[in-house]
Amino acid sequence: MKDFNVPVSYLKGVGPARAELLLSELRIRKVQDLFSLIPTRYIDRSRFYKINELQPNSSEVQLVGEISGFKEIKQKRGSRFSAVFKESTGTIDLVWFKGGKWLKDSIKEGKVYVIYGKLNFYNGNFSMPHPEIELLSLFEKSLRPGIQPVYPSTEKLTSRGVSNKIMCTVLEHVFRDFYSAIGESLSKNIIKKFGFLSKREALLNIHFPKSQEILAKAEYRLKFEELFFMQLQMLHKKININEKIAGFKFELVGEKFNEFYSKGLTFELTNAQKRVLKEIRKDVGSGIHMNRLLQGDVGSGKTIVATLAMLLALDNGYQAALIAPTEILANQHFISIKESLSRFDINVSLLTGSSKIKERREIHESLEKGTLHILVGTHALLEDKVKFKNLGLAIIDEQHRFGVAQRSKMWMKNVKPPHVLVMTATPIPRTLAMSAYGDLDISVIDELPPGRKEITTVHRYDSNRLKVFKFMKDEISKGRQVYVVYPLIEESEAMDYKDLMDGYESIAREFPSPNYQISIVHGRMKAADKEYEMNRFVKRETQIMVATTVIEVGVNVPNASIMVIESSERFGLSQLHQLRGRVGRGAEQSYCVLMSSYKLSADGKKRIETMVSSSDGFEIADVDLKLRGPGNLMGTQQSGILNLKIANLVQDTEILEQARETAIQLLSEDPNLSKTENKNLSAVYASFVKKSNLWSNIS
Ligand code: ADP
Ligand code: MG
Repeated sequence: MKDFNVPVSYLKGVGPARAELLLSELRIRKVQDLFSLIPTRYIDRSRFYKINELQPNSSEVQLVGEISGFKEIKQKRGSRFSAVFKESTGTIDLVWFKGGKWLKDSIKEGKVYVIYGKLNFYNGNFSMPHPEIELLSLFEKSLRPGIQPVYPSTEKLTSRGVSNKIMCTVLEHVFRDFYSAIGESLSKNIIKKFGFLSKREALLNIHFPKSQEILAKAEYRLKFEELFFMQLQMLHKKININEKIAGFKFELVGEKFNEFYSKGLTFELTNAQKRVLKEIRKDVGSGIHMNRLLQGDVGSGKTIVATLAMLLALDNGYQAALIAPTEILANQHFISIKESLSRFDINVSLLTGSSKIKERREIHESLEKGTLHILVGTHALLEDKVKFKNLGLAIIDEQHRFGVAQRSKMWMKNVKPPHVLVMTATPIPRTLAMSAYGDLDISVIDELPPGRKEITTVHRYDSNRLKVFKFMKDEISKGRQVYVVYPLIEESEAMDYKDLMDGYESIAREFPSPNYQISIVHGRMKAADKEYEMNRFVKRETQIMVATTVIEVGVNVPNASIMVIESSERFGLSQLHQLRGRVGRGAEQSYCVLMSSYKLSADGKKRIETMVSSSDGFEIADVDLKLRGPGNLMGTQQSGILNLKIANLVQDTEILEQARETAIQLLSEDPNLSKTENKNLSAVYASFVKKSNLWSNIS
């Protein structure tokens, strides 16, 4: 049996110096790492052109014919060489500005060569500078006559002579030596079902494809495989959690839930809200552990669903917790939950970084005694001192602000983990949800409460600010309120802070008291001051709220109808969408004004255009995914599972769906992968899980 763990320094054509380079530049250590060095692109040498079919715009072409008539042309400095390339339909000139002399001596007239290179077209004639030249007889023997791989490279590799040609040669050797030892990793059933190439053929053809068709097949198989094992892992984890960690069983849909549902609601739930509640009830009533992601666009009414879910916990004698990413939001949840539940004898407390020591102590005590039923707060809830008597349900709002680590920390709060409901207003593209959150069940509120008016979104350049001010005045005179948001992405950035303060001053000049009152909220303020300012806005004492993105998440002031976003080109799409979601919460027509300078990057422009043309959170999330790539969305880069080498979550949606379905079916038929027919698969899977690297398994 061949050993795929052999260091590359033992390979023909590598040696210790090159091995060191390969390691430092491409992280290639062993033979198996070479197999997973997926080419970044291919040069198509499967096609031979005829000279009479060349077009002036042809880029790189390959021809076969004879070379003759070498000429040296003296120039001011040195000399240039030319030769005539000839085949049955015509001739072209070959040109060398360097190294022609050596070629002149090595090229034999009368022999047939394959040449390849970029064409020049000048004065009606074609020429090819510095063509790649190879004897046809050698070309035919090589493993790479079809489509040539171009491997990832670095400047250092090239400058130290590890050219693409050398990489190709090394891989050729590797394939000659190891090809027959490459083992199969999928089951016969799956291979048959999808008509896949064997693992061996797929690997060979991803490196040295004989045609575009077979390259596509090789890609398909390897992408599928990568996504399949990723899905298998996520689903397996989910099954394990469900089986091994029994959840609390909320058997009763009790008094409080029923009473609130029938008498406490001031509106009828949307069908989507009802459906999601049903899904949650099914989970928590079943005895398995709930780990559910609730996606719902801004304003879709997630809070009321959370409140009802908490009542389910309380009805069954458990405590519930709600954790939010900012103090303002935690505070707002606290107030709205307390208000909604005022008819009941339920104790609700708020715990944040700015809770007083005495308050904290009381909370800690009543929490452990069980007399405190619902705790709402920020990260402060995750501190070790915070111990529940019997936490039955933990709800995490706006998940993308929290890392995965924090999600699991909430679990540790109990001997037995509480049910977890993660809520997010940033719609996660389906592909990403299936991968980054593949271990969660997903519920979607895909319907807004009735009567909402679509928000009108416009883009205005800074030079139009006076008109925007005028518009603000008109709306304020109708009794509306306005947000003006500045980018303060790093709250410590002095520049941003200055922009905010300058902006505030110019607004204060334009909107003088006593006719106008202005609130200001930013991250450098003390929590109590923030709250004071927020509350003035909520109580309509101020008409304008100048703020940074601290108001991004969740804040609910239905009377506010204009959202002006300054330097909007500097915000990400999901942030813009979140901010816009702060308006359009009341009965009035609302507006979002995206201010920007004239200087816009291509991406910045695309983001603004997307916002102006779409209000669909999922559509916006898809554009965001395409612009930024999966690694940058929602902290998924830390999760490690997105270390994909060949599959692409933006492009390979369909393959991902197939992979997921196949994995689901497989696990339902053979949950432990113990059937003989799944032997390959289970071996690969086992070491994949151990090393978290699919590509370390090829034998
Ligand atoms: P989000 O999903 O963004 O957290 P909220 O829960 O804050 O949304 O709800 C937004 C607003 O919509 C709140 O004022 C809430 O009371 C209201 N709301 C929620 N559900 C409904 C409904 N079914 N019908 C009417 N209004 C609703
Ligand atoms: Mg919310």
